[in-house]
Amino acid sequence: MRTKGFDIAIIGGGVIGLTLARALDDRGAKIAVIDAGPAIPPATRAAAGMLAPSFEYGEEFGGPADAVYHLGACSLSMWADYAAALEEETGGFVDYRNNGSLGLAYRDAQTAALTEQALRVQSLGGDVEMISGDEARKLEPSLSGNVAAALHAPKDTQVDPRRVAAALTASLERRGVEIIKARVLSMGDGDASHHFVTVEGDSYEAEKIVLAAGAVSGLTPMGLVYPVKGEAAAIAGDGVITRVLRAPGAYLCPKAEGRVVIGATEEIGPFDHHSVSPAAIAGLRANAARAVPAFEAATELERWAGLRPGTPDGAPIMGIDEKGRYLALGHYRNGVLHAPATAEAVAALILGETPPIDLAPFSPARFSSGRDG
Ligand SMILES: Cc1cc2nc3c(=O)[nH]c(=O)nc-3n(C[C@H](O)[C@H](O)[C@H](O)COP(=O)(O)OP(=O)(O)OC[C@H]3O[C@@H](n4cnc5c(N)ncnc54)[C@H](O)[C@@H]3O)c2cc1C
Repeated sequence: MRTKGFDIAIIGGGVIGLTLARALDDRGAKIAVIDAGPAIPPATRAAAGMLAPSFEYGEEFGGPADAVYHLGACSLSMWADYAAALEEETGGFVDYRNNGSLGLAYRDAQTAALTEQALRVQSLGGDVEMISGDEARKLEPSLSGNVAAALHAPKDTQVDPRRVAAALTASLERRGVEIIKARVLSMGDGDASHHFVTVEGDSYEAEKIVLAAGAVSGLTPMGLVYPVKGEAAAIAGDGVITRVLRAPGAYLCPKAEGRVVIGATEEIGPFDHHSVSPAAIAGLRANAARAVPAFEAATELERWAGLRPGTPDGAPIMGIDEKGRYLALGHYRNGVLHAPATAEAVAALILGETPPIDLAPFSPARFSSGRDG
């Protein structure tokens, strides 16, 4: 066994850990990222990459939905520059697209729900509007004649999360940030709370430890973060749609090279990263073809699953736990959206600066009664 020391160790190399590492490196901090690799596949690889605060603020969970919306809107406003800087630095391509999204309704009840959502988002400062089915078809001519109305969010954007992760990794490698492929087995307590050991048998210590390890790290207290499995697929559909469509029962995201990502199911609980149910994919495809009939017989390119890091109130966890460790966890359906703002805020917190956003609503202390940290 060997012991190695770092100033700051980030456990987890998904989109949250990698963007945080880059933000800390920007500030001159000495860091290492410890990531389990394929042993614990990141949710980031499974994500569709929608950057859509107008649809994703988790009001249904009873948590701090306004704060989640503002975190998402703040991060959305950072993404254009973030994507451009990442591409310029690495020569990579992250497939950033800024032509908005449409939430679709076929029936009156769905139109009413979207109208209520539009009013709510407008009240929070968001730029969204309800449009008719015909107006939606002018934007997306391949939409079904059954689409009766749509919520148009012109400022929503998207990226390709796999390309983002590859570019972030390339960025960190160029900067000389150490990325250690290892699975952290346990972290110490008390005086040893800045030590951790890996499954591979190595022992590490760091002045500051950040847990950014997603849904199933085995390192967070039971119930604080839990997996919400999502299954998705990609089909071939070059040029059929140009923007993200959020139909009842499926979303459709056009990507580079003619791929269209269709997602996603939601199932709470399983620690199963890999299995994909044929019935789930058939359901998603049927819902997608209902919105865009041209996709009915489209060739399937790939299907996959991933585990979103859910939290009891649907909001992320960012702050310091009772053992003095920093947490950047639980971004659930929005980790890609939230990553740039999360990285700036948590990096500032770690280095004793004032975070650019108020982290109080996301503090782990909101769950602290009866927990051990
Ligand atoms: C089907 C699907 C669609 C999605 N669509 C979107 C979307 O459109 N937009 C959006 O913003 N978000 C989306 N998400 C959510 C998004 O993927 C997550 O919120 C985000 O990826 C979480 O990032 P993370 O870095 O916290 O965790 P992860 O990406 O899961 O990364 C965690 C990392 O920690 C490592 N790790 C875990 N345990 C250990 C350990 N013990 N030791 C060392 N390393 C460890 C893992 O190997 C992994 O690499 C989607 C998710 C799914 C599943």
